[in-house]
Amino acid sequence: MNEKNYRVLLYYMYVPIENPEEYAQEHLAFCQELGLKGRILIADEGINGTVSGTVEQTDQYMAAMKADPRFAEMIFKIDEAEEHAFKKMKVRHRKELVTLRLEDDVNPNELTGQYLSPKEFYERLNDEDTVVLDARNDYEYDLGHFRGAIRPDIINFRDLPQWVRENKELLGDKKIVTYCTGGIRCEKFSGWLLKEGFKDVAQLHGGIVTYGQDPEVQGELWDGQLYVFDERIGVPVNQKEHVVVGRDYFSGEPCERYVNCANPACNKKILCSEENEHKYMRSCSDECRTNPSNRYIIQHELSEEEVQNRLEKIEA
Ligand SMILES: [Zn+2]
Repeated sequence: MNEKNYRVLLYYMYVPIENPEEYAQEHLAFCQELGLKGRILIADEGINGTVSGTVEQTDQYMAAMKADPRFAEMIFKIDEAEEHAFKKMKVRHRKELVTLRLEDDVNPNELTGQYLSPKEFYERLNDEDTVVLDARNDYEYDLGHFRGAIRPDIINFRDLPQWVRENKELLGDKKIVTYCTGGIRCEKFSGWLLKEGFKDVAQLHGGIVTYGQDPEVQGELWDGQLYVFDERIGVPVNQKEHVVVGRDYFSGEPCERYVNCANPACNKKILCSEENEHKYMRSCSDECRTNPSNRYIIQHELSEEEVQNRLEKIEA
């Protein structure tokens, strides 16, 4: 019964959209009518979406979008799935498609890094004069990344420019290649790098998703899983081999299972086994474990005594 009758679409386009707020409302109604679920952002600079639906629903959606002259050139990345990847359908109006909050915004249609096909990107991964910079957040990198790529320790994309300014020595005067999930973040980020004075900047066109589906490179030199912002959390990329790079937060053992810290104020993403989730009450620190709002303790209705027992076991 593993028939894949569903699909997840990932897509974006930087194109001027007039009255984005109004368009967001219309678009939500349209998506709901089709029966899609997912998350779409609409800004005056364009559209960025991930939606799931049946093969028929997603076909209808793609056809309708391509019939709109603004989106005629849209590239849809298609993943097969067994069910919806979202619970709800949300279409939101935002100021920016990806949050960089630059003092001086970059329009990717005017300034962006050179586009590399998966094959070209693969060759650059093996080039000594190139540094490969992951443009995603630390928890995305920790689940999977390109072999040898630099890991910025940021939890929000908007912190990446500052991180680059503080870590210039890691990039040296080498050629820079950036990559992200579907390519949208790199469109802006690579343009920003050029503006910042870096001379030779390129980006993986279509992102990791396209790289994993490319019939020639087949995801080679990718390790681990690709972090995705839907209920699947992780998806495979490398079709030739699977190397686990994720490590259990508590034990350091290989692990690809993400949970959120049970302290709502922390909510940090931690990789951990089911066993360690229970042992550590799904919390990243003692402070989070003893937080009065701890969701794990509430959910499992742990008595004070039981909590005390577990805290002692952790210390032992
Ligand atoms: Zn925590």
